[in-house]
Amino acid sequence: MAIDPRLPYDPDNVFAKILRGEIPCKKVYEDDFALAFHDISPKAPVHILVLPKGPYVSWDDFSAKAPDAEIAGFIRAVGTVAREQGLVDPGYRLLANIGQHGGQEVPHLHVHLFGGRQFYGMIS
Ligand code: 5GP
Repeated sequence: MAIDPRLPYDPDNVFAKILRGEIPCKKVYEDDFALAFHDISPKAPVHILVLPKGPYVSWDDFSAKAPDAEIAGFIRAVGTVAREQGLVDPGYRLLANIGQHGGQEVPHLHVHLFGGRQFYGMIS
């Protein structure tokens, strides 16, 4: 069931629990602004989720409400993860699902980082 990004942030969502250390994850990166870990159900040889640490439901409220330092820190973290994973050459794919039509399932903003194989066209 896709989520409604207009709802208030739910502190009991699964990624909030991972951020608080209440649920384990296979962490690959963490700094003041972001946490990155392997997706539990990978759709590519490399499938990592990168989350901002703040309580943002989606790209919508993050882009509208987050302080500039958090936005910059998060975007830098995504790039750092890709570099550290050795994905810059030959490349990788980023994806953020937002709301119902975006197919978002977990109501804490996350970027999917896919790599390790050739991608063609757009994801349907
Ligand atoms: P969305 O559709 O919200 O963009 O994607 C949510 C992603 O979170 C899915 O790819 C799903 O496999 C992943 N996911 C859901 N629950 C967990 C979990 O408990 N741990 C991890 N590592 N990934 C999860």
